[in-house]
Amino acid sequence: EDVAQKIAAGEVIERPASVVKELIENSIDANAKNILIEIKDGGKKLIKVLDDGQGIASEDVLLAFERHATSKISKLDDIFAVKTLGFRGEALPSIASVSRVTMITRTKEENIGTKCIVTGGKVEYFDEALSKEGCTIIVEDLFFNTPARLKFLKSSSKESAYISEIISKYALGHPEISFKLIIDGREIFTTSGNGNIKEVFAKIYDFEEAKNLIEVEKHYGILKIKAYLLPPQFSRNNRSYEIFFVNGRYIKDKNLSLFLEKGYSPFLPAGKFPVAIIFINIDESYVDVNVHPSKTEIKFKDEYKIYEALLLMIKEALRGDVL
Ligand code: ADP
Ligand code: MG
Repeated sequence: EDVAQKIAAGEVIERPASVVKELIENSIDANAKNILIEIKDGGKKLIKVLDDGQGIASEDVLLAFERHATSKISKLDDIFAVKTLGFRGEALPSIASVSRVTMITRTKEENIGTKCIVTGGKVEYFDEALSKEGCTIIVEDLFFNTPARLKFLKSSSKESAYISEIISKYALGHPEISFKLIIDGREIFTTSGNGNIKEVFAKIYDFEEAKNLIEVEKHYGILKIKAYLLPPQFSRNNRSYEIFFVNGRYIKDKNLSLFLEKGYSPFLPAGKFPVAIIFINIDESYVDVNVHPSKTEIKFKDEYKIYEALLLMIKEALRGDVL
């Protein structure tokens, strides 16, 4: 079981940024309005995520560390109707099996909170504790018991950059939540949580460019696409500014990128890539998020309808702007 757990953990947790991604998804699922992320040494030494969401009731705290115990899927069919970002009940157990996790949490209904420490999958401490409403998770000594993983990590500055990137994306995708990132004691950014994406873009990427974002929204039956596009002259040398959210979930998808680039291609200098933040909302029954544990890939039903709709929308928006 110990070995199986470590292998399963490796599927979900590849590096500190994967821990951060899972923890902030949990905070978002808990309806947090404010999420504070603090990391030290590229997350190798410390990752702390503090939120003001609904918290975990004392009797559920240990369950949260058990594999699949909290799985939101009861029947197989449900997998096509996932409403929350997490649903496998795998992340927290995986993280705790390869690090030392301290959880401090309290729900609105409780007078006193709970503190729990799990190291390498073993519960070391569990007791009442003072806590604000919400949940704080501290991850220390990541991969202490999986030396191969530890060796494969890059420099602290590179790992910090991966973390900063994933938080930036979630901050853009959830402008209604305030994200604060502190790296090695230094504040990197704080978003206001007022719902304004252009403002988030300005804070995280570029203040002047944010003013040029073109905002477009289209409804195609059950499909809604909202996009924030920078005109082609602001294009980049790589794809990392092609940012997609499907029903609030950050997604990397080759075909979505391909069709986005197709839409830009008449106006795009060679070797350049667009800056675009695209929100796709579609009935959950058209989405299968169960492709890979890291969940950044996706499968759609009738995918070409979605790609074509995206292409059409981009072409229209840019034609209006460029010509
Ligand atoms: P899931 O796939 O359900 O997200 P996780 O392993 O990520 O599984 O988390 C296990 C469970 O712990 C969640 O289902 C949720 O009930 C609880 N949980 C984790 N993080 C938080 C948080 N920040 N606030 C409230 N509950 C949380
Ligand atoms: Mg989760």
